[in-house]
Amino acid sequence: MPESPYPMLPVEEALSLVLQNVSALPPETASFDEALGLVLAEDIIAADSLPPFPASTVDGYAVPAADSGPRRIVGNQMAGYMADIALAPGQAARVTTGAPIPPGADAVVMVEDTIEADGLLRLTTALKTGDNIRPVGFDVEAGRRVLTAGTTLNPAEIGLLATVGQTTVRVYPRPAVAVMSTGDEVVAPDRPLQPGQIRDANRFALLGAVRQAGGLPLNMGIIADQTAGLAQTINRALAAADVIITSGGVSMGQLDLVKPYLAEHGALLFGRVRAKPGKPVTFGLLQGKPFFALPGNPVSALVSFENFVRPALRKMAGQTQLFRPRRSVILQNDVRHTPDRTEFQRAVITRQSDGSLTASTTGGQQSSRLLSLQGANGLIILPHGHGNFSAGSRVQAIILDDVG
Ligand code: AMP
Ligand code: MG
Repeated sequence: MPESPYPMLPVEEALSLVLQNVSALPPETASFDEALGLVLAEDIIAADSLPPFPASTVDGYAVPAADSGPRRIVGNQMAGYMADIALAPGQAARVTTGAPIPPGADAVVMVEDTIEADGLLRLTTALKTGDNIRPVGFDVEAGRRVLTAGTTLNPAEIGLLATVGQTTVRVYPRPAVAVMSTGDEVVAPDRPLQPGQIRDANRFALLGAVRQAGGLPLNMGIIADQTAGLAQTINRALAAADVIITSGGVSMGQLDLVKPYLAEHGALLFGRVRAKPGKPVTFGLLQGKPFFALPGNPVSALVSFENFVRPALRKMAGQTQLFRPRRSVILQNDVRHTPDRTEFQRAVITRQSDGSLTASTTGGQQSSRLLSLQGANGLIILPHGHGNFSAGSRVQAIILDDVG
C-alpha cells in the first residue's frame, strides 16, 4: 500500500497551526442595526447622559416633597416635551412615566397613592425628596464606556448603541467563505441520480455550518475531478472570499487532486491529522488565504469543520472565545475505540437530576452516515493511545447544542 507523504499531526498541533495562520479581518464601519452578531472593534463612550433630564418613573403627580396638606394641581407635564410649568410650594402637576420633572418639584407620588378632587390633590402615603425620579445620568453617565472592544453585539448591545446614539460602529466583518464540493460522482440534490452518482450533502451542510459559525457562506457549486475545473473555481473563490473550503478529493485515490493543487500553488501546512473521522483533512494558505480541504465523507467533513474551520472563522470574525464548551460526561454505553487516533463520536448528552451529564452514542459511527450526527448535541472525545471505553467511564465531550 503506498504511504501518504504527509505526516499525521495530533489534533491539537494541527489546530494550533491553523490558528497561527489566521488572524482577525481588518475592522470595517457598519450601521449599528446591521451589526447583530458581529464583534466590536472599538470602545463605545456615551456622548450624553441618560436620561438627559430628571424623569418620572411612574404615572402620578410631581410635587415639592416637603409640603403638607392638600396641593393645588396647576397643569400637566406629559412625556415628550417641556410644559411651561414651575411649581410653587403647595402646588402639583400631573406627570406620566418618562415625563420631565417640572422646576420646583423634587418628588413624584404614584397615582395609586393619591386622591384627586376639585383640582386638589391629597397624598395617602409619605413622600421624600427624590422619590420616583430618575435623575440625569441615572441609566448612563456622559463619558462612560458602555461597550468594550471585543464584545459581541447581541440584541441588548444593539439597543445600547441605539440609546447612546451610536449609529455607526467599527466591527470585524464576517469572513466570506467559499464552499465547493468535488467529485465526478457528486450531483446537485434536485437532479435525478444516474448510476454511480450520489447527491451532494457536504456543500449544503457546510454552507449551514459556516453561517452558524458567523461566516458569510458563498456557494461555489460542484467541481469534477479534473485540475482545470478545480483551478477555475478556486480562482473565482479567491476573488470573492476570505476563506476557501473544499470537500472530497483528499484521500489516496488517483483522482484526489486537491492536496497536490494546494501544494503546487500555495503552501500546504498539514495533510493528515490523527483524528477519526477526518484523517485526510488538509490545511494551507493559497494567496495568503486559509484553505481547508475537508474529507468527502459527510460526517468527516462536518467533524473536521468543527475541529478546525469553526475556530478559525471565529478568530477571523474578531471573537476571543473560539471554542465550544467542553464538559466531562459519563458514558451510558460501551464504546469501541482503537488507540491509533483521537476519535470524535456523535452523542446525545443529557443532564441527569443530580446535575451530572451522560452521553449515549448515536448508533453506527461510520463517517459516511450523516444520521449519526442528526439529533446529536455533542461529540465525545476518545483520545488516541487509549483502547475501548466501557459504560460508566468518564470522557470529555464537545457541547454542540443545548443539553436537555
Ligand atoms: P473522497 O474524499 O473524494 O474520496 O470522498 C470520500 C467519500 O465521500 C466518497 O464515498 C464520496 O462519494 C463521498 N463524498 C464526496 N463528496 C461528497 C459530497 N459532497 N456529499 C456526499 N458525499 C460525498
Ligand atoms: Mg472524490
